[in-house]
Amino acid sequence: MTQPIASHFINGAYVEDTSGTQIDVIYPATGEIIARVHSATPTIINEAIVSAADAQTKWASMTGTERGRILRRAADLMRERNRDLSVLETRDTGKPLQETLVADATSGADALEYFGGLAASVTGDYIPLGTDFGYTIREPLGVCVGIGAWNYPTQIACWKAAPALACGNAMIFKPSETTPLCALKVAEILYEAGLPAGCFNVVQGLGDVGNQLVTDPRVAKVSLTGSVPTGRAVYAAAAAQMKHVTMELGGKSPLIVFQDADIDDAVSGAMLGNMYSSGQVCSNGTRVFVHSSIKTEFLKRFAERAAKIRLGDPLDETTQMGPLVSEAQLQKVMGYIEIGQKEGATLVYGGTRPADLVGYFLEPTVFADVTDEMTLAKEEIFGPVMSVLDFETEEEVIERANATEFGLSAGVFTRDLARAHRVVRALEAGTCWINTYNLAPVEMPFGGTKASGIGRENATAAIEHYTQTKSVYVATGPVDAPY
Ligand code: NDP
Repeated sequence: MTQPIASHFINGAYVEDTSGTQIDVIYPATGEIIARVHSATPTIINEAIVSAADAQTKWASMTGTERGRILRRAADLMRERNRDLSVLETRDTGKPLQETLVADATSGADALEYFGGLAASVTGDYIPLGTDFGYTIREPLGVCVGIGAWNYPTQIACWKAAPALACGNAMIFKPSETTPLCALKVAEILYEAGLPAGCFNVVQGLGDVGNQLVTDPRVAKVSLTGSVPTGRAVYAAAAAQMKHVTMELGGKSPLIVFQDADIDDAVSGAMLGNMYSSGQVCSNGTRVFVHSSIKTEFLKRFAERAAKIRLGDPLDETTQMGPLVSEAQLQKVMGYIEIGQKEGATLVYGGTRPADLVGYFLEPTVFADVTDEMTLAKEEIFGPVMSVLDFETEEEVIERANATEFGLSAGVFTRDLARAHRVVRALEAGTCWINTYNLAPVEMPFGGTKASGIGRENATAAIEHYTQTKSVYVATGPVDAPY
């Protein structure tokens, strides 16, 4: 069953308020309405904040070991229910089950397990000061708000909730209105694992609900996964009250294939970095710089493999590519394909909707002869559209790769490891891959530079972003005052 028990999850229970605007949940593979939820009213938002603020102080007073045990129990429950959660993720987003079985609840469980393990080691420092000493306390921030994009609804909820809760914060999570279902299951699982009521609340709604949460003075921190324009608006609203922020925003990342690369591996990397989740991944390497000497061979092998990608029913485990998340996203991406052709890029493969499928499907699409000033090379498309650009020298490609406002990710394919390390040092990006693409294990920090964001998720780096430091000076002798 896809219809949730109610729209919101507050203080440990499902809550409904049908006076909020109705949000239809559409299965992107067929266009049918599979569930309905309601946007949070000011009353619901207030309930969520009050219960979170109340729960947070008690949660923070538990030991890290106790908090961690609950998170690790939740990780186990997520893994046990991986299939059901994956089916729900597929219904919510349209991503194929083949992907959701390995990339969503499993990644969420990794985050819960990892931060559950770290919770007990969130400690301060001892600072010797002659005969005096000081120490620091890593305090939780308080009530944190998480706001999610629609491409990875389970993973985004867990990547935010796990470190927030491990550090003793409470979280209110607002999923994207396009994919409201999965975060409710995360809440159910956390409570079943023993999380005290109020520590993780889910409220539904559009940007206006997000904005009410961000601007509420009882909220201490906001972590957003979304586009750069939304990031700018949320960051500015948070700054007005000097709130902490983590911004995981968009990208237009470069993937550089040198002439000595293993071409099949490079094609695999480019496929992972452009076609996975129908291209709706923030870190995608959508500007693929291929050395001119291997361009023809690279494009030939890519097109051969793209032709074999199986599009179709996302719930069929042999399907490799599902639809885009919504009609609006499909239209946006189709618009970019039209612009690409008008601006003179060469359409090598795809570009049209498969005639036999009713949902928001689009063929894997590859453009060659893309130049730096074309729209295809500048704007985030967020669909299965890859642009191939030619280059000649290392210096040239580094300069062109960095000539963007974005700085989320980058990839390099080469057999020359000295060059690989030299190039990634020069690339302006938060995450770089050498001879692979788009792997984001919880053990490694993830996030952007430049307009792609601020702060980091995952790894011990996330602890910095969900705590603040209190310094305590302790005198052991008489006070030396000159008065
Ligand atoms: P949006 O920026 O449109 O929305 C992101 C979230 O912010 C949604 O929940 C949205 O609500 C909410 N929102 C919108 N306006 C406001 C506001 N003024 N105040 C508070 N909240 C607001 O992104 P999409 O959902 O379209 O997701 C795609 C984008 O996310 C892409 O740019 C992609 O690159 C980025 N992304 C980044 C990732 C990263 O880790 N760096 C990972 C995944 C995606 P609603 O949509 O319900 O109106």
